[in-house]
Amino acid sequence: MIPVNTPHFSGNEKKYLNECIDTGWISSEGSFVKRFESEFSTYIGRKHGIAVCNGSAALDVALRALNLEKGSEVIVPTFTIISPVQSLVNEGLTPVLVDSDEQTWNMDVNQIEARISSKTRAIVIVHIYGLPVDMNPILELAKRYDLKIVEDAAEMHGQEYNGKKCGSFGDISIFSFYPNKHITTGEGGMILTDDDALAERCQYLKNLCFQPGRRFVHSEIGWNYRMTNMQAALGVAQLEQVETIVSRKREIGARYNSNLTGIQKLQLPWRQTDYAENIYWVYGLVAESEELAQKIQKDLGNLKIGTRPFFWCMHEQPVFLKMGLFGNEPYPVAEKMARNGFYIPSGLGLTNDQIDEVSQRLLESVNNG
Ligand SMILES: *Cc1c(COP(=O)(O)O)cnc(C)c1O
Repeated sequence: MIPVNTPHFSGNEKKYLNECIDTGWISSEGSFVKRFESEFSTYIGRKHGIAVCNGSAALDVALRALNLEKGSEVIVPTFTIISPVQSLVNEGLTPVLVDSDEQTWNMDVNQIEARISSKTRAIVIVHIYGLPVDMNPILELAKRYDLKIVEDAAEMHGQEYNGKKCGSFGDISIFSFYPNKHITTGEGGMILTDDDALAERCQYLKNLCFQPGRRFVHSEIGWNYRMTNMQAALGVAQLEQVETIVSRKREIGARYNSNLTGIQKLQLPWRQTDYAENIYWVYGLVAESEELAQKIQKDLGNLKIGTRPFFWCMHEQPVFLKMGLFGNEPYPVAEKMARNGFYIPSGLGLTNDQIDEVSQRLLESVNNG
């Protein structure tokens, strides 16, 4: 069996976790939390890090902290995990969607300006699957129209845009440390910002809005989204290995690329743009038809090789349709990706032999199609 993801622990994970148990510091009060916040934010090149219990929680807090007026419009890609759009809806903000770019699978930056209205207050950037969004045109729009930028860098640990770390752009950014991300804490997330007031507000919102001095007297409602010391202990150990992790992910991608190159019926991940080289968070493929995508996933499944379909577009989500959130605008590129796209095993526990085995089986499935 080759699962779609297997985590890999080869550093100080056990040692630091044992420290938590031996000392009894297991809640969010332990010292690994502060250390992880400080080391991770330094690594990304941001002033503040606020650790939380997962990446979706990080988005909730980041968006609340920006204090956008209810009913404001926020631009976001339709091809994304639901987390950023769920946070927007929960905050009473209106998501306005943008289609994807066929090559990079990220939001098409050329379609953003046409979606800006007098109610637009922010853009949520979501870097998808391994290549960053083209940031410069977006930063320029943000300046020109006075928009906030939230950067969802959950899939981008160690990735750079023009030599600057993803997660260091815009007003506030977030990461996830779910087990299939480059760095994992089991469940976990981080908010990053350079803004002192915003950072303080995030710490407050994630911690039940406890007030300094008057702990159990509340002026606002927030969340308990704290990260435990045990999660942070894993994070500190993982961060020590980040460079090895990132280069192994690129090796996995390159090996699949050379095994699978030349298949007409499959679009492979775009290897690089003029601003970044793919980091292959997952190794995604887009088949020429929905039938072929289904067939390959079924064939691999029968051989106990894990696959996952791509994200499903936000404008086609039953929950949002029920709410009447989006009109009938077509988003043809994203719709095709959602139907014909899937990804194959690409976790850090994967061996080269397994990569070759998966590639071989995949080629057999395509050729018998
Ligand atoms: C994984 C992911 C999230 C959510 O993170 P969780 O920790 O699973 O809540 C948010 N955004 C993107 C782009 C992701 O890939």
